Amino acid sequence: MTLDEAQWHPSACILCECNCGVEIQLGEDGRSFAKIRGDKQHPASKGYTCNKALRLNQYQNGETGRLTTPLRRGADGTFEPVDWDTAIHEIATSLQQIRDTHSGESIFYYGGGGQGNHLGGAYSPATMHAFGARYRSSALAQEKTGEFWVSARMLGMITRADFEHCEVAVFIGKNPYQSHGFPRARSVLKEIAKDPQRSMIVVDPVRTQTAELAEYHLQVRPGTDLWLVTAMAAILVQEDLVDHPWIEEHLNGYQPVAEVLRAVPVTEYCAIADVPEPLVRQAVERIAKAASVAVFEDLGVQMNRDSTLVSYVEKLVWLLTGNFGKPGAAYVPSGLSAIGRDRGYPFGEGPRSPVVGAPIISGLVPCNVVADEILTDHPARYRAMIVESANPAHSLAQSTRMREALRSLDLLVVIDVAMTETALLADYVLPVPTQFEKYEATFFTFDFPQNIFHLRHPVLEAPAGLLTEPEIHARLVEAAGALGEADYAPLREAAAVSREAFAQAFLPLMADPGMRRLAPVLLYRTLGPTLPDDASSAAVLWAAAHQAAMANPDGMRNAGYGQAPAAGELLFDAILAGEHGIVTTVDDYDASWQRLPRERILLEVPELLRQVAALRDRPAPQPDPQFPFVLSAGERRAFTANTIMRDPSWRLRDAEGRLRISTADAESLGVSSGDLVRLTTRAGNAHVAVDVTDTMRVGHVSLPNGLGLTVDGQSTGVAPNELTLTEDRDEWVGTPWHKHVPARVESLGPTPAWLPD
Ligand code: SF4
Repeated sequence: MTLDEAQWHPSACILCECNCGVEIQLGEDGRSFAKIRGDKQHPASKGYTCNKALRLNQYQNGETGRLTTPLRRGADGTFEPVDWDTAIHEIATSLQQIRDTHSGESIFYYGGGGQGNHLGGAYSPATMHAFGARYRSSALAQEKTGEFWVSARMLGMITRADFEHCEVAVFIGKNPYQSHGFPRARSVLKEIAKDPQRSMIVVDPVRTQTAELAEYHLQVRPGTDLWLVTAMAAILVQEDLVDHPWIEEHLNGYQPVAEVLRAVPVTEYCAIADVPEPLVRQAVERIAKAASVAVFEDLGVQMNRDSTLVSYVEKLVWLLTGNFGKPGAAYVPSGLSAIGRDRGYPFGEGPRSPVVGAPIISGLVPCNVVADEILTDHPARYRAMIVESANPAHSLAQSTRMREALRSLDLLVVIDVAMTETALLADYVLPVPTQFEKYEATFFTFDFPQNIFHLRHPVLEAPAGLLTEPEIHARLVEAAGALGEADYAPLREAAAVSREAFAQAFLPLMADPGMRRLAPVLLYRTLGPTLPDDASSAAVLWAAAHQAAMANPDGMRNAGYGQAPAAGELLFDAILAGEHGIVTTVDDYDASWQRLPRERILLEVPELLRQVAALRDRPAPQPDPQFPFVLSAGERRAFTANTIMRDPSWRLRDAEGRLRISTADAESLGVSSGDLVRLTTRAGNAHVAVDVTDTMRVGHVSLPNGLGLTVDGQSTGVAPNELTLTEDRDEWVGTPWHKHVPARVESLGPTPAWLPD
């Protein structure tokens, strides 16, 4: 058989939240990815990929430090292989001792998946419950929790926006050309740019590829987004460009918001943001005149100063102009999970972390307080951590402090594919198959009006000796004595009869809140073995499909699944069979309104509005003479991804991850592209080669994300969090200021490549 005749295996790219469908052809060795192409049958991406998907072989088969057996740290501090029974027994015993001595609440769970793998993490609530754990977090709590909280306060739900159909697209701290965030991003951007009836507005200190395509680039001074976005909202009110009839019909709280915005000195704010006022006014007028506006705020502002306040004012802009619940505007997605859903307690109320008292948003402890929750003698401190598909030693702020915290734990268990920076510190490391060796899926399904789900089938067999995450969770739950054969037997009997019989046996158990937490493992052990093609790991989706059928009856009916409860079964069967991904809901635009928990949207969030009003009295941000540059630590570029991409050879360009610096700053420092500089922040310093570019503002430098990983003892590039501090975080929700790190840059003269300090 020639390669061209070989089978194409449907799967997905795992390098950003879009999870574009791909098809993979294996090489003659049966393991290498010989060819990768976009999957035209995928219902969201429809054959689209960016350049990154084509290098997925480096994830699967590259130099990654792949784990092949469970490891235990021995008495001499090195790892030794152990069998699974020993590892599970010892971990469970240790967790039980910690629970019995200090309370299960001292066991902290972190992770549960990244950009491409959420299925295993869906089983973690069972393990947490089995050992009495209560607190958890993930990378979302260093990115999106500010927006989640603001959305909960204003709308009661999270929103996304319809860029495919909008007349005007607004990107705030977002470069979709590299970071994507919605299907077929590069194609959609080019379509908008080419269409004379449509416009793009970009708020970004960098002249990104997206900004190059935009009609309006508001090249804001780093750290002043709040002044600029507030000026934009103020122009809408002061020039009476708001949609009064729509506001009257749908919004509460217009008067107090308008009063604050009327008092905004627009000229002064534009000057602080260093964006020409006429350009700001033109952009705002374009928004006001458009039939539809879609807005996306992302990490450029969400990991920056005033991030929660910017989220609030950004939402004022599209709500004041009536851009919700219609084609081309903001919408409330359907989905199989509740990612991002928050109760929206007023600030100061709601759940808090046990030591620092930080607000828990969407169930997640802020990442920047995790080290503080451990490095203390507080009796409620976290003493054990289970880290699953995540790498906090590298990806959370102030890595030195995070490493110290992880080392100080009584027990650290890491579940992962490779020997990560976090796994290196663990007491036990449990190896799992890669994302192409097992059933996988993400719950990042936010499309509209047609939403999708993609259960990816294995492309390859996993090497012997590995267990999937659901199997690990099931074994831990059983070792804790939380579930066993007596619980499984009646459900297995029912599952052998029919799904309907299974449902009748399963649903009464869910009246018990404890059983509800254990449900993923219960499903895995009982319904799982009845699923075709060894798809036990997908069992948890049976419950998710039924919940979706109840939550989105119209969308599911429009998608051809009929009415609940039959719709839930049909959807689950479609998920199991749909190797290329399936459509789950087809919504009317009105569905967004129906999904809101209250009839009217709240414009006024008093505690946030007070701070917007108080902005007039805040001095304009000034650079620190000791650290005159602003470092954006973690820029997405053409060859950066999350830290699961460990093989540095996957980067075809910018292999060492250079520091981007403006032409004027480079001239002042006397450096050229490729020259080495010392980059110093309050947290540390690094030597890095510069890339001189006229896309950066004077005083602004950027490092890429995903660099500084150590594979087989070799590290490439600068790990951004060696340069950040945990105390630099948002006042409201604790998200880090990674995109605003005060820094100093000093020339070290010509050197061809990055060197360690
Ligand atoms: S990195 Fe590119 S190919 Fe991969 S999911 Fe994102 S947009 Fe798609």
